[in-house]
Amino acid sequence: MIWNGEWEYYNQDYLKSLYEKKVSGECPDLAVRKIYCKGCGRVFKRRSKPRNIVCTPCAAIEVIKRN
Ligand SMILES: [Zn+2]
Repeated sequence: MIWNGEWEYYNQDYLKSLYEKKVSGECPDLAVRKIYCKGCGRVFKRRSKPRNIVCTPCAAIEVIKRN
């Protein structure tokens, strides 16, 4: 099963295009945000309100650390 964060990770191009529509004012209500990963500083896009402000690779590292 693909969890939401993973879907977003593999659809960054799509989310980026949505984000560009949002910032350009074409679709200002789109629920997509620009996020800076706390782990590696990478910029990525998310549709949801992030609980963990880390990118998918960093989140995966966190899961490995926890287990
Ligand atoms: Zn990261």
